[in-house]
Amino acid sequence: MSSTSGAIPSARTGSHYLSGLDDGRRVVVDGRFVRDVATDEATAGMAGELAELIDAHAGSGAHGGAHGGAHGAGGAPEADGCLALAYSLADSAEGVVARGRAFETVARRSGGLLGRSPDFLATIVTAWAGAADHFGRFAGNVRDYWRESRDACRILTHAISDPPAGRGDGLAGTLRIVREEADGLVVRGAKMLATLAPFADELLIYPYRPLGEDESDLAVSFAVPVATPGLTLYCRPSLAGGGPLARRYDEMDALCVFDDVRVPWHRVFVAGDRERANGLRDGTEMTSYAWHQSSVRAFVKAEFLWAVADRCARASGRRGAPPTRALLGELAGIAETLRSLVTAAEAGARKGASGHWTCEPTPLACAAMLNSRLYPRAVEIVQAIGSSGLIMHPSPADDPPSSPAHAFYSEYFARADVGAAEHARLLRVAADLALDRFGARQALYERVFVGPPDAFAGKFLDIYGAARGAVSATSGPLTGITAGP
Ligand SMILES: Cc1cc2nc3c(=O)[nH]c(=O)nc-3n(C[C@H](O)[C@H](O)[C@H](O)COP(=O)(O)OP(=O)(O)OC[C@H]3O[C@@H](n4cnc5c(N)ncnc54)[C@H](O)[C@@H]3O)c2cc1C
Repeated sequence: MSSTSGAIPSARTGSHYLSGLDDGRRVVVDGRFVRDVATDEATAGMAGELAELIDAHAGSGAHGGAHGGAHGAGGAPEADGCLALAYSLADSAEGVVARGRAFETVARRSGGLLGRSPDFLATIVTAWAGAADHFGRFAGNVRDYWRESRDACRILTHAISDPPAGRGDGLAGTLRIVREEADGLVVRGAKMLATLAPFADELLIYPYRPLGEDESDLAVSFAVPVATPGLTLYCRPSLAGGGPLARRYDEMDALCVFDDVRVPWHRVFVAGDRERANGLRDGTEMTSYAWHQSSVRAFVKAEFLWAVADRCARASGRRGAPPTRALLGELAGIAETLRSLVTAAEAGARKGASGHWTCEPTPLACAAMLNSRLYPRAVEIVQAIGSSGLIMHPSPADDPPSSPAHAFYSEYFARADVGAAEHARLLRVAADLALDRFGARQALYERVFVGPPDAFAGKFLDIYGAARGAVSATSGPLTGITAGP
């Protein structure tokens, strides 16, 4: 595996990341400006989690050897560490698989609960850099941006969908180019919504839906630091006051409002060119890169839910009951289906049009489609198994020994192999996943990760038809039978 250029980056540290968050970024949570994302009670938990992720996986050599980073075949030094590996281009099938294992290592830290762990957006700018010619006169900007982001181990997020006022015929409110000036573009309007935005170094913008003939001013793609004058992030209410998972993994979602923001030319990737904007996905194979990361994360998350459900069943004494075994078996099947699709995609890795190696996209598209339906079912299974324990999980640790209830918690909630306090901790994790607002938001995230699930299923039908349809339609019992267009 090798990247197209590469000085070894000096390792980024978590403490450096945290101190850099007090940079004037305009973040509004619960109706107030957050002064410092690293220390505010609404955001400190997640900021700390990202700092730990950086310390564990940003590495410049210390952490990445086991994942195939090291040096490229041509002897060029490479970025390594799992986060840096997400920024690397593969020149072999082994390189693709190594990237997959790096995604897996990152996902396992959070049980797959971080939808926007930094490796996700890294895959997108990497795909763009590998196929930079797609960007025409801005190709050099894309390559430079990828190189800088990789070397700095930048945390990026993206905002691609339009706010409600920008849908349908009236386009009021949607982010657009207002004018071009000598030193760059001026943009105004909103993009909705960016997960992780308050914690990111930079925000990447590009269109989500295909643009019509009269929408050239919406054909814009660029990157800006989150702390850019004129950019404000209006966040949904914080979930950090919730259970144990919410306190650590509330990655936040924000409406991004641009008030005549200046984007310097060197950060512009598309400016008014509808064809390049509409061709972004096919022209750069970015979905194959991004869905590799998201599909790995999906199977890790399903395995995590299975482990939670399995422990809940053991702790409640129901693990041997046939209905419980059936539910656990179904959940295991969900995890294994998603894992197998990743294996299939990696096994089908091939050299793409850009000359770099990527996964076979069809199994990844299948995983994306199925996960939007299977994740809500997995949550339902955790609910069924956790049952009343999801609301009734008192612990002796909650009350002082002098409390009248203290003794009864141990008497009624401890079992032979699990103490009452440990049982309560487990059920609180399960409640966070399956009952509380944190879990509801996680389920919605997976449901719409690739857009409305029904729309994506239709898209997958086309992908499947193009990749496999001809085989079953022209062989076996259907040979010679046609059915119109
Ligand atoms: C937790 C979470 C995190 C997210 N993070 C990000 C992020 O980081 N970056 C980002 O850019 N976006 C993000 N999104 C937005 C996400 O991409 C969208 O929610 C998703 O594409 C669905 O779009 P929508 O919510 O506007 O729903 P809609 O498109 O309004 O869909 C809602 C319903 O309307 C139906 N519908 C849609 N279009 C039509 C139509 N033309 N005719 C008839 N029916 C229609 C759909 O079938 C669906 O059932 C996030 C969303 C969530 C919930």
